Amino acid sequence: MGRCLLFLWLLLFADALLLGNLEEKTSLGVLREAGIPQESFQEAGISSEDALLYVEFWEDLEYFPLAFPCSRKEEFFFENGWHDKRNYGGERLHEGCDIFGSQSISGYYPVVSITDGVVEQVGWLPLGGWRIGIRSSGGGYFYYAHLSSYGRKFTEGEKINAGELLGFLGDSGYGTEGTTGKFPPHLHLGIYVRTEKEEEYALNPYPVLKFLQEKQKIFFY
Ligand SMILES: [Zn+2]
Repeated sequence: MGRCLLFLWLLLFADALLLGNLEEKTSLGVLREAGIPQESFQEAGISSEDALLYVEFWEDLEYFPLAFPCSRKEEFFFENGWHDKRNYGGERLHEGCDIFGSQSISGYYPVVSITDGVVEQVGWLPLGGWRIGIRSSGGGYFYYAHLSSYGRKFTEGEKINAGELLGFLGDSGYGTEGTTGKFPPHLHLGIYVRTEKEEEYALNPYPVLKFLQEKQKIFFY
């Protein structure tokens, strides 16, 4: 009896493994067909279920969210900081990717829209500081936070073009309106999609940034 159960258990286990593998392969196939490089998804440990949620908006991706001023090529740094611990506003996990410039100056680097889209939210948030959120046509919600200032006045519902100046990389946030200087200047990028269960389901922006790394815009001024 015991041996029989063990055998059954092994059989089920093997089945589950095979099914898991199959699912993995299918989602990788979908990514490949959509022209999405899979390496950064694997590097960031993104589940195959989550990976499929990027497909709808992948074609909307046009520009790296930070531009470099003048003709000087600046470097930007980001790593896979998904779910790193954060303490401000209670214990929580980091739902985004932080990008730093080679110069730690607030108000220096232009932040541009990654996609065409519509402004969904704009203004101050205690955590995000001066932020703007743009929904692309494929349903991705791109959240740009900690801006030092906006490029112009934005209103909710207005259309935005990919590459358009949204504002400047800064260090606003972690307090009441106008708070700055609580952390080194950086751009926090968040990406959210609507799923059947959640209105705002957070995705790791790391593979998106990796993909856009070479698509940087130059600003002449
Ligand atoms: Zn962040």
